[in-house]
Amino acid sequence: RAKERGRNQISFFQVDMQQTVTQRYALEQELREAVAQQAFELFLQSQVNADGVVIGAEALVRWRHPTRGLVAPATFIPLAEESRLILPLGDWVLQQSCQVLARLEAAGHSLHIAVNVSPLQFAQPNFVARIRDILKQTGADPTHLTLEITEGLLVEHMTETMGRMAELAALGIRFSIDDFGTGYSSLSYLKRLPLYELKIDKSFVQDLPEDPNDVALVETMLAMAQHLHLSVVAEGVETAAQFEFLKSRGCNRFQGYHFHRPQEHHEWFEAFAKPSQLAPQ
Ligand code: C2E
Ligand code: MG
Ligand code: MG
Ligand code: MG
Repeated sequence: RAKERGRNQISFFQVDMQQTVTQRYALEQELREAVAQQAFELFLQSQVNADGVVIGAEALVRWRHPTRGLVAPATFIPLAEESRLILPLGDWVLQQSCQVLARLEAAGHSLHIAVNVSPLQFAQPNFVARIRDILKQTGADPTHLTLEITEGLLVEHMTETMGRMAELAALGIRFSIDDFGTGYSSLSYLKRLPLYELKIDKSFVQDLPEDPNDVALVETMLAMAQHLHLSVVAEGVETAAQFEFLKSRGCNRFQGYHFHRPQEHHEWFEAFAKPSQLAPQ
């Protein structure tokens, strides 16, 4: 019986594997097509200060799929990275984000936009040149652009990363460590890199202020950031209690459903950056 079950399991497993490979292939083809047609939408999620005032936004991409509707990035970013489609996709996100920045500036705002950059994208030899081109082409002010990178980039490509970051920081671009505390890198990079900000991962925020371990970790991260003169964004803030706790421990920037959900970028612009909302001169 056990043998029989074992055999069955093996054959089921093989069928399953085949389906997975086929499905993966199909999905990759669809994604390739989507990249060619730029079938994506740029969403923006506000970031606020301790007074709840919008100070900028993070750019979050969605795939406009013909039958599945808007697909969340968790479903396709890993595949985009494996297939290298993240390169043209990431380029599109940067261009779109800088276009929004230029529009914000034209409307008289000094808001920033944070863009997620995948390690593969950052590791391209022409990455700095591409950023310069996009800034020139859109006219966006580099001091309003933040690039979110992850600790994985620092583990795998430290030497190139340091040089590239220095060049981009010299242009006025800010760097933020996304998902801080979830990677495997040593903390020594914090003093060696031109960083502006840490983003506390939402996994540390979700059980605040009840979970004593998360309280200890978040307090430590905030104290460390303060000593290193780094700004901190807490992500995934969903409740007033989380907001109050983070504020009381010195966190100065916040992002999460408690404030605003990610919105299609035109809608976000209407809501937060319409020229008519500016004070008269
Ligand atoms: P991330 O950069 O850490 O972005 C934050 C994620 O948390 C977003 O998910 C956002 O919608 C979600 N979020 C915001 N507030 C809350 C909240 O209060 N509660 C909860 N539970 N979640 C919240 P999203 O948009 O699904 O993006 C997932 C991930 O996909 C991003 O994580 C980022 O790593 C990646 N991603 C998104 N856009 C891009 C992109 O343009 N390029 C690259 N390379 N990666 C991207
Ligand atoms: Mg991010
Ligand atoms: Mg994050
Ligand atoms: Mg993430």
